[in-house]
Amino acid sequence: MLYESTRGQFKKILSAEAIKLGISPDGGLFVPCEIPMISINRLKEMTNQDYQARAAVILKEYLTDYSEEEIDECVSLSYNQEKFDSPAIAPVRQLDDSLYILELWHGPTCAFKDMALQILPHLLTKAAVKTGDISTIVILVATSGDTGKAALEGFKDVPRTRIIVFYPEQGVSAMQQLQMITQEGNNVDVVAVRGNFDDAQNGVKDIFGNTGFNQDLHRKNYRLSSANSINWGRLVPQVAYYFSAYLDLVAKGNVTLGEKINFVVPTGNFGNILSAYYALEMGLPISRLICASNANNVLTDFIRTGVYNRKRQFRKTISPSMDILISSNLERLLYHLNGRDHTKTSEWMASLKDSEKYHVDELTFARIDRLFWSGFANDSETMETIRSIFQKYNYVIDTHTGVGINVYNKYLKATGDTTKTIIASTASPFKFNTSVVQAVLGDDAVQNKNEFELLEMLAVLSGNGIPFGLKDLDKKTILHRRTVSKNNMRDEVNNILQSAN
Ligand SMILES: *Cc1c(COP(=O)(O)O)cnc(C)c1O
Repeated sequence: MLYESTRGQFKKILSAEAIKLGISPDGGLFVPCEIPMISINRLKEMTNQDYQARAAVILKEYLTDYSEEEIDECVSLSYNQEKFDSPAIAPVRQLDDSLYILELWHGPTCAFKDMALQILPHLLTKAAVKTGDISTIVILVATSGDTGKAALEGFKDVPRTRIIVFYPEQGVSAMQQLQMITQEGNNVDVVAVRGNFDDAQNGVKDIFGNTGFNQDLHRKNYRLSSANSINWGRLVPQVAYYFSAYLDLVAKGNVTLGEKINFVVPTGNFGNILSAYYALEMGLPISRLICASNANNVLTDFIRTGVYNRKRQFRKTISPSMDILISSNLERLLYHLNGRDHTKTSEWMASLKDSEKYHVDELTFARIDRLFWSGFANDSETMETIRSIFQKYNYVIDTHTGVGINVYNKYLKATGDTTKTIIASTASPFKFNTSVVQAVLGDDAVQNKNEFELLEMLAVLSGNGIPFGLKDLDKKTILHRRTVSKNNMRDEVNNILQSAN
């Protein structure tokens, strides 16, 4: 299978090349030239398979230039019980007859990013070998919290890779910072940037775009690459869990094979919900995709009106992983739904860059309207939902999942559609402990409590142990103390690579 750029100014390439490049040199994103179909008969065969086997089926459909053995190896190195604390990998939990929760946070960093970032390093190192590239791959990441840690865990000690994560010194939670600066592994570096997330992100983009620097690195046998969700290698592993969740319901007799269901996805960069869209186009029986946003509701407005307008105030919320105004992966959806028209796609993206908005055409909008529904929840609504879900089901959810369920309730009210629905639960409640404890037990309960006391309280509330990745963080050695100004990030990359030799 071949991949093409959404901007149409780059040649068609195989998946290994697309994963190695990350982003297309014409500024576009790589998409598959055709979307493979999974028939009902094949779904039936997959019903009795485990997560690993189902994931391998989906990956083999898209990554046809990898051998079956290579895919199987990548899958077993990633989705195993050393890395995930649930044998089901991505278990589905039933709340009532029509409402189910897909728990995507059983990986090492307690957020759904692990589902893709555990396997991406293996796909990437195999891609380098396949394309005859013998350089060491250097992954640069700018993170606002979750991606950095998940990428570090995925890439640590993976041969022929190095990973350097930049985070804003004041811009991540105490827990997130501790998770990163105690990171072990012989090929990892973590650097605090004096600035905000945008400064860190711009610094990384400048490094990627600096041709001279990249040529210099190449002479030293290094190649820069990205672990961001613009990389196709981040999206394709996510398609698998939508299939797996559906098949779990079939296997348990909760839905009959072929019966359509809805998915609700708490959304930021549009990566997770785009994977659900691919699953739908592949023939997975899905009726509606419900896009849930927080107060940064640019996608809600877009899905309702066809106008994408980022000219609005950026809001910091209790679901920080969804605090985003430019949803990069939307470009891929637009390309698929506008009839693969790269001219239109390029025009809209240019308009977003120049005038901070664009307006899609009638036909594209009609297609979006048929497949998607959207809504948003502010912080107090999200807190209320966390509390009521706990009271009703004795089940503790995190703030991002809270946004998802709140929007689902709005959907129910607006449409009366009682189709069985799965909510993608994107983080463990332990990761956002303060807000979650506050939602369930009230403001007084969190007064003067430190992060670790809050974890203990949550363990009691939820009846679950503190996840391995968050436990004892206060007792771990701090291994990373580098701090740079936003103008010195490139020099820092040089220093790090030099001292690595
Ligand atoms: C990254 C993230 C999201 C947003 O996912 P996108 O693929 O960017 O839409 C939602 N919730 C959590 C917990 C995340 O880490």
